[in-house]
Amino acid sequence: MQITKFLSILFFVSFLVVGCSDDDENNFVLDTETGNTKALGTSANDLLSDTNFRGLTVEIISVEGFAPTTTAINSFRNFLEDRLNKPDGITINQRTVPSSGLAPFNISKIRQIETVERTLFNEGDEITVYIYFADGSNETDNNSKVILGSAYLNTSIVIYEKTLRELSSNPLAPMLSTIEAATLNHEFSHLLGLVNIGTPLQSPHEDSLSLGHCSSENCLMRAAIEFESGMMDLMGNGVPTLCPICLADLRANGGK
Ligand SMILES: [Zn+2]
Ligand SMILES: [Zn+2]
Repeated sequence: MQITKFLSILFFVSFLVVGCSDDDENNFVLDTETGNTKALGTSANDLLSDTNFRGLTVEIISVEGFAPTTTAINSFRNFLEDRLNKPDGITINQRTVPSSGLAPFNISKIRQIETVERTLFNEGDEITVYIYFADGSNETDNNSKVILGSAYLNTSIVIYEKTLRELSSNPLAPMLSTIEAATLNHEFSHLLGLVNIGTPLQSPHEDSLSLGHCSSENCLMRAAIEFESGMMDLMGNGVPTLCPICLADLRANGGK
């Protein structure tokens, strides 16, 4: 039970909605020696500081036809440059792959895909993060809740690009590039240990109703962003940013 609860906390990170993945079977195999298969948040300091890793490589793998916009990637790159101490630089590699044919997805399927598609792992003083842009939705989506993405391991993220595109096609919705950048920045911030999942709180601001999220108004890490109405509010003026209290947490754990 405790493990179930722990796993639930680890997987609460879905962007639009709290999407706990109780259906995980852990039936995937990744090379554990590289340190890329640890629990979410455990590499926060390694990503933020230059203590163990001086460079970061992000491997972005998109299903053909579902690659993110260039605008979103530029925004994401700026977000990383502003937060991470990586004197050797930040490299973003992008490529496309054929569909897995496994949609709709759960995290177990997403992990299986990672074992097939991911090619870059930590090496020397270079840490790597894997981000998969999927051609489908999460299987738990319904009319009132949809999941935009999840950070599910210490260096692994999935973005449900098909869902993002459907949301952005609403005439009142933010632009696709805004939703993409907000989702990327939000999920990566979970890898950075926000909120209270690997990066210690410097002051109380964790949302007690949605663990791992921030209670500050308009913060990128707000849980309200998880709902379509909240998304409209928070993205109305562009990609939301981290509040000063979240930034203080990151700086205290080695970030800029
Ligand atoms: Zn989240
Ligand atoms: Zn915050």
